[in-house]
Amino acid sequence: MSADDTVRSEYRLDPLTNRRVIIARGRSRRPHDNHGAGEKSSSHSDPSLKSHKDNCPFCLGNEDMTPPEVTAHRPEGGGPNNPGWDIRVVPNKFPALIPSESPSLKSSERASESMGWFATSPAVGVHEVVIHDPDHSKSLFELGSKKVSRVLSIYRERLGVFAERDDLKYAVAVVNHGAEAGASLEHSHSQLFSTSRVPFDVATEVEIAENDCAAGRECRLCNIIKEEQIRSERILGLTESHIAFIQFASRSPYQVSVAPISHQSRFEDVSDDEIEDLGLAVWRSLGALQSVLGPVPFNVVLRTSPWGNHASEGYHWRLDIVPKLSIMAGFELGTGVFINIVPPEEAAAELGPEF
Ligand SMILES: [Zn+2]
Ligand SMILES: [Zn+2]
Repeated sequence: MSADDTVRSEYRLDPLTNRRVIIARGRSRRPHDNHGAGEKSSSHSDPSLKSHKDNCPFCLGNEDMTPPEVTAHRPEGGGPNNPGWDIRVVPNKFPALIPSESPSLKSSERASESMGWFATSPAVGVHEVVIHDPDHSKSLFELGSKKVSRVLSIYRERLGVFAERDDLKYAVAVVNHGAEAGASLEHSHSQLFSTSRVPFDVATEVEIAENDCAAGRECRLCNIIKEEQIRSERILGLTESHIAFIQFASRSPYQVSVAPISHQSRFEDVSDDEIEDLGLAVWRSLGALQSVLGPVPFNVVLRTSPWGNHASEGYHWRLDIVPKLSIMAGFELGTGVFINIVPPEEAAAELGPEF
């Protein structure tokens, strides 16, 4: 065994979540040994994909295969639920959350129940799909930075609408790209979830931010962003108003975070210029990941402050891009501690030149 094969593991504390991860250095088997460029993957960048698929509900001309649209960008005109759209938002056909206007909810006598240890309440919320483009074959990266910005502006528009509603408390936007990352349809799309409860992980991060605020301490992510710029060992790059970097204690290999350099708690407050710049930062990050890892499946998660009486000025929104290179195995399930076998500094050194 050479010195390079020696496993050196360390715990790192994530300051944003107060969770520890294990960074395991020197494991000889790298996560993308199985996912290298050129190998077949289920991601959208598969060159054999055609730009139109007859039975795909997200393809142009198949608008009647989805529930009626919520909104759409229509640069070429055309009425709702007809071709002419560039980005289209529709309710999820099989929603994970019950719309508050649902008759089944209104008729339900069992709004909330608690029978000893067995408490239930209706999972109320909104579950929408954002179809990124009429073209079936194009991945988010292949759509270009201007299109990524437009998709992000749709997130902003919809989150703004959800935030006006008293029955909703939180929203998250996600991309599941590739079957291994949870995509059930290969046509590039995002999902928007807005919930009537603030999820546990979000509440924990918000509580940390609020405690800092109450104690007069500066936002942790603002501090981290300053420190990362000084150290410069985990940064992919900067655009005018955003930073792309790998978090010191990131849970999975090559996980890239994109955040505004100046403090901002609510994604709905991002300006048009900032959206344009964010699209560039996200697109460059996706490009860097594709150059280094090849066409791997990935998730994107936009994390922003809840609203109403759960709002947190101290929260700093961010967007995480998580390549699907490892699975949650027994140790992670049993302990909640993730093992990341690519030190963030090494991942940043590979991705930085490609940003
Ligand atoms: Zn399609
Ligand atoms: Zn901040």
